[in-house]
Amino acid sequence: MENTRKSSIEISKEEFRKIGHQLIDDISDFIDSIDQKPVTPNESPGQLQNLLGHSQLPEAGKPAAELISKATELLFNHSLLNGHPKFFGYITSSAAPIGALADLLAASVNPNVGAHILSPIATEIEKQTIAWLAEFIGVSPSYGGLLVSGGNMANFTAFLAARTAKAPKTVKEDGLGNASKKLTVYCSTTTHTWVEKAAILFGLGTKSVRWIQTDASNKMDTKVLEATIAADLKNDCKPIMVIGTAGDVSTGVVDNLDAIAIICQKHDLWFHIDGAYGVPAAVVPKFNYLFEGIKEADSIALDPHKWLYSPLEAGCTLVRNPQHLIDTFSSHPEYYNFSNGGDETTQNFYEYGLQNSRGFRALKVWLALQQVGRSGYEKLISEDIELSQMLFDLAEKHPELEAVSQNLSITTFRYVPLKNSKDNNYLNALNEALLNELQAGGEVFLSNAIVNEKYCLRACIVNFRTSQKDIEEIIEIIIQSGRRANLNRSQTEKG
Ligand SMILES: *Cc1c(COP(=O)(O)O)cnc(C)c1O
Repeated sequence: MENTRKSSIEISKEEFRKIGHQLIDDISDFIDSIDQKPVTPNESPGQLQNLLGHSQLPEAGKPAAELISKATELLFNHSLLNGHPKFFGYITSSAAPIGALADLLAASVNPNVGAHILSPIATEIEKQTIAWLAEFIGVSPSYGGLLVSGGNMANFTAFLAARTAKAPKTVKEDGLGNASKKLTVYCSTTTHTWVEKAAILFGLGTKSVRWIQTDASNKMDTKVLEATIAADLKNDCKPIMVIGTAGDVSTGVVDNLDAIAIICQKHDLWFHIDGAYGVPAAVVPKFNYLFEGIKEADSIALDPHKWLYSPLEAGCTLVRNPQHLIDTFSSHPEYYNFSNGGDETTQNFYEYGLQNSRGFRALKVWLALQQVGRSGYEKLISEDIELSQMLFDLAEKHPELEAVSQNLSITTFRYVPLKNSKDNNYLNALNEALLNELQAGGEVFLSNAIVNEKYCLRACIVNFRTSQKDIEEIIEIIIQSGRRANLNRSQTEKG
């Protein structure tokens, strides 16, 4: 028998080097010319299925070089490019190139960041990243936490910690069935859908979510919050937490965090901030005032894969007293021998959240934080906000556009034809048709928001590639498409 095993999945040093160099060359060209490509090729699922063919699971193997080259071609030419300077849809950022290199490096070493012994340096890097993120948003670096896949998971992690802390002590053993009072949670009507999933997942049920209406500025109405808590207490419920949003998904509004913090203190409630999108703006001194009260939060969710420009996936949960995470998630099965050789600072991340085996997400975040530094991020985030304000101003000045809202880096606006109906139903249908046309057109990618019953075009700029020129150009693109869409609609309505 040969004593060296030949594994078909191994790639020789020479071949790896060759394929890798080619791939890096191709990626460099791709990033360098990304603005020359359509934002999306707008192909149907059927077209893409045809491209992949209907062949079965391969029986025999193929050379890695051929496969990587084919995959490169598929991804570069058949993807929606959220790294394009005119991509402003949803809240998805252009990915920092250093993040791509970081992911390659992380995957090559492949530490399992579930336990310190399995990932010695990676665990320490993640701990440092968490402390830096806390410092970044202006809370004490003694906050603890972990990186997760995204905003939903970051909020879920905090939600379960809040439940453990505020529900009856036996909740971990007995579940909610034995709780004598109905547990209730509070958030504004603008809160992201994760809260419903959390209520289902963690056994409270969706009826336990009290959706608090917003005031004229679209922030949670804290008077209504107070009154709702008081009514629930009278009705023998047990309020456990209030969720403040720092940058709502539709329009970027930040709740009055300070006022919510005071109410939480008064009633001994867990104060959670969903800052998945907006909380990094706290790094900009000019916007500090929006985030007053953040230091009072028991937990905060933020998404490095949004405004810190990390490639997907990277979310983060920060908890003021990290012991709450351990109380919630720690267990010590007999098959783990993770205390060996450690000291009192040994941290095993599996005890901090829902995941067990964990990838090295922290590396891409840690490297980008150092590549540009705090001041670099302050500049990038400020510029995104300025571009968003510029878009609002241009829309306001244009006779065929109506500027509707502008908060953080989200602008909403709509096309309003000079002649023709100004009826709101007509404008809503027109702008919906316009958005569909723009999304299919591939010149610019926007999403939508409904603001005061107006169907709006929505641009969220978390994009370090966008410049003033892009903003000026998209105004033109929208006007041309808007006129066409209006002509089509007014003709169909007549016909
Ligand atoms: C994006 C977002 C989420 C969801 O985050 P994912 O990373 O998409 O899971 C939750 N809350 C807010 C405020 C968000 O902006």
